[in-house]
Amino acid sequence: MKYLYCFRNVLLLVMVLAFKVNSYAQAPKKHYPIIDVHVHAFKASPNTADLCPWFLKNMPGADPHNHGDNPSIFNLDCPDPLKAAKTDKEMQDALLATAERLNVTMIVSGDASVIHNWHKAAPNRIIPSLGISSNKDMTVKAFEDSLTAGFYKVMGEVAPQYQGMSPSDVSLDEYFAVAERLGVPVGIHMGTGGNGNINISNPKYRASLGRPFLLEDMLAKHPKLKIWVMHAGYPMADEMIALMGANAYVYVDLAGFIWSYPLEEIHAYLKRLVQAGFGKRILYGTDLMIWPKLLETSIQVIESANYLSEDQKRDIFFNNAVRFFNLDASKFK
Ligand SMILES: [Zn+2]
Repeated sequence: MKYLYCFRNVLLLVMVLAFKVNSYAQAPKKHYPIIDVHVHAFKASPNTADLCPWFLKNMPGADPHNHGDNPSIFNLDCPDPLKAAKTDKEMQDALLATAERLNVTMIVSGDASVIHNWHKAAPNRIIPSLGISSNKDMTVKAFEDSLTAGFYKVMGEVAPQYQGMSPSDVSLDEYFAVAERLGVPVGIHMGTGGNGNINISNPKYRASLGRPFLLEDMLAKHPKLKIWVMHAGYPMADEMIALMGANAYVYVDLAGFIWSYPLEEIHAYLKRLVQAGFGKRILYGTDLMIWPKLLETSIQVIESANYLSEDQKRDIFFNNAVRFFNLDASKFK
């Protein structure tokens, strides 16, 4: 009897173990879908540097004769810097593998050949975007032809601020008219230059040209244009909120600023936008350039935001982008 009892226990244990092994053998659950609306495709270089996220947490007073004093995007002053990809293949393989694992679809602008390569390798992960920031980049006709050919679905990153120009500058007007007519969404850089010494690397850049109110004249001319303000117009929350209040089609993305500034500052700014009632108009984005691991680092910032509900996080990661870009949600499950 005692033996029988013992045997029954062993049998039970074996059954439990078999069930566990079986459940581990099942395919891992697919990550919920994420849309990263702000990714840059660059030609890789062996000289690109690693990155410490949140590198602007300490802004020292610098000496004009020693630019090395300035906080820089290329900074290794942290325990575990994100490694820069050194070749195009390394970047593509790492990025697309991460995108597959985390179920991320990316809106990508930048080097046309790199975008084509990524899109060929993973057509369901890449939404190509065409950026122009000045009428010297391409003619209006070439721009319209590129959009109507079907490969590019989005216009961006439009960054007149780096050219010392307002987004309402008349020289860009016809390009915006094309996007409005074709119903193509437009991403416009508004905000900081990011690296703490933009005055040296981009002498035409003006912080004042990142003011969200500068979009008003352009939006008045193009009332049906759908735009999203890249980098959420950081740090000008008041103007951003007023602009979104006045224009129902204006969204923002969180790119760049979510890994450049002190975490408390990032959360305070994001919380302010949500608190003001714009949780349905915030798009997730990274401003990813050459560090594939930045995808995970940036996702974690939103995941750890304890002031956001799970529904609000899903809106930021996915639902808002589906609405803004007219995507078919069922294709992402
Ligand atoms: Zn930008």
